[in-house]
Amino acid sequence: MAKLYFYYASMNAGKSATLLQADFNYNERGMRTMLWTAKLDDRSEMRGDGHAIESRIGLHAGAHRFSAETDLLERVQETHAVEPLSCILIDEAQFLTEEQVWQCADIADKANIPVLCYGLRTDFRGQLFPGSAVLLGIADTLVELKAVCHCGRKASMNLRVDAEGRAVSEGPQEEIGGNDRYVALCRRHFSEALGR
Ligand SMILES: [Zn+2]
Repeated sequence: MAKLYFYYASMNAGKSATLLQADFNYNERGMRTMLWTAKLDDRSEMRGDGHAIESRIGLHAGAHRFSAETDLLERVQETHAVEPLSCILIDEAQFLTEEQVWQCADIADKANIPVLCYGLRTDFRGQLFPGSAVLLGIADTLVELKAVCHCGRKASMNLRVDAEGRAVSEGPQEEIGGNDRYVALCRRHFSEALGR
């Protein structure tokens, strides 16, 4: 019975690296995978190197890109019918819609293919992303990946900063300005930075 997994964390916990390691493990055994990432994450596109999924420690891979309109179940079934897939890996899973998370559940339950989702738990205000909220609700297995705050505690929060490094508390949830626009902090230092 295939499962739906959610690996969640703050920024800089190594989500993409963990995804790419899992992908490598499948491929090493000759098993075919399908990689996805969010269309709005254009960090790699801007650099023009063509790697959709890229980790800070240098691992990278190409990937399909989902938008809110992408039917993940249909796309997976089409590919799976031509050549069987052993695993679906989804980066930036916080940007999945509620319907897409349920499609991921169907991929596991009906197509019997494990789905591994990797994403941020909360945004720069400490609020759940829509995709993460549904994944936390219905995934079979939840795994927390840990980043470290400057104080040594687990960094579970994502502080957004401006060009001068000042904390930002307003703005759209989906703005991705690259890793330098966010600082992973423990909850105490996140609250202090926002003057709560
Ligand atoms: Zn701290």
